[in-house]
Amino acid sequence: MSKAKDVLIVGGGIAGLSTAIGLKEADVSVDLVELNPEWNVYGVGIIQLANALRALAALGLAQPAVENGFPMEGLEMFAPNGHRIMNQPQPKIAGPNFPPQNGIARPVLHKILQDAALATGLNVKLGITVDSIEDAGAKVAVTFTDGTSKDYDLVVGCDGLRSQVRQLVFADAPEPKYEGQMVWRYNVKRPESTKDIQMYMGHPKVGLVPLSDEMMYIFITDAAVDGILRVPNEDLAVEMRQRLDAYGELFAEIKVQITDPDEVVLRPFETILVPAPWNRGRVVLLGDAAHTMTAHIAQGAAMAIEDAVVLTEELKKQDSVVEALAAYNERRYERVATLVQLSQQICECERDNVNTDKIPGLMMQANKIAAEPI
Ligand SMILES: Cc1cc2nc3c(=O)[nH]c(=O)nc-3n(C[C@H](O)[C@H](O)[C@H](O)COP(=O)(O)OP(=O)(O)OC[C@H]3O[C@@H](n4cnc5c(N)ncnc54)[C@H](O)[C@@H]3O)c2cc1C
Repeated sequence: MSKAKDVLIVGGGIAGLSTAIGLKEADVSVDLVELNPEWNVYGVGIIQLANALRALAALGLAQPAVENGFPMEGLEMFAPNGHRIMNQPQPKIAGPNFPPQNGIARPVLHKILQDAALATGLNVKLGITVDSIEDAGAKVAVTFTDGTSKDYDLVVGCDGLRSQVRQLVFADAPEPKYEGQMVWRYNVKRPESTKDIQMYMGHPKVGLVPLSDEMMYIFITDAAVDGILRVPNEDLAVEMRQRLDAYGELFAEIKVQITDPDEVVLRPFETILVPAPWNRGRVVLLGDAAHTMTAHIAQGAAMAIEDAVVLTEELKKQDSVVEALAAYNERRYERVATLVQLSQQICECERDNVNTDKIPGLMMQANKIAAEPI
């Protein structure tokens, strides 16, 4: 048994890039294949709670994230009439130099991770994926869709919710589950008064998330929808605006900015939790490929970065790949599973409009778990 020398990362999103960055001092040769030939991400934002900043700090990237994002102190909740009902400051767990949380545009975070990953000298191939993966014990034989093939000591599946690696290697894994709720997002101008995450607890729920001095995004979560909602492109902006009618004039200044259907990001909430262990031999899953939670607790990307930090720490520390993967499973599964379940509970309350008074408590519980050491 020996340490990994040749590693393949499948998927160049948050999990894959973080893994490549985490491996930079591990004396390994890293190949990364990314299906999207443009290697870009869509344009709205991402909430980074304190544990996300802590994980980024472990990769040496919390500083650029905060410098290029919008540092925040906590969460404010409002009644549908705009009256503030809660102001919950969050703890600073990433260290004294970092805020409790940060808002950042996805393309900005992607660029920070991409630049740092490319600086490690990894070998990137765009527009291809894996065709077959055969774990032969000491090595994994991989063929790619461009007709090439290579043997690896470790294959890391970071290819998201509909992971090809999972489908090829984890025959018994569950399918992604639609949780019956859709979310609408759009970038708008940030008013001076929005300095923290602000949530308006009416129906539908509305949230505002600062991303920079100039910009924030608005999200709206629908009530129960049977089946994934498909809206013709030309109707997206109109339909998103209509959802704000329930709030009267409260969002009038935002509404007039929601005009471009191409800028509306409408997504279903979907989940998956692959049962432990997240490896089959020398093939391991990270990020959304292993576990996707709903965005209600803003932890999906945070967990992907944490996965990468933990896996790469263990690969450096342990004497063999086998021991590193065992330690990765041990440190990750329970923590992530609990958060997946909490996100589903909150989603259910919102979706079915039941026990909505429990939502703030469930969110605080998720934040408390997330703040625990990894
Ligand atoms: C509406 C919404 C809001 C969210 N908000 C937040 C938030 O505020 N905070 C937070 O922490 N998380 C949030 N998340 C979750 C977060 O977006 C995900 O958890 C995170 O993107 C997971 O990263 P990943 O790298 O595992 O997967 P992905 O981001 O899906 O990246 C996978 C990568 O693999 C590539 N790929 C796919 N298939 C293949 C293949 N076969 N071969 C090669 N490459 C492939 C893709 O092109 C992509 O580059 C949100 C999610 C949603 C849906």
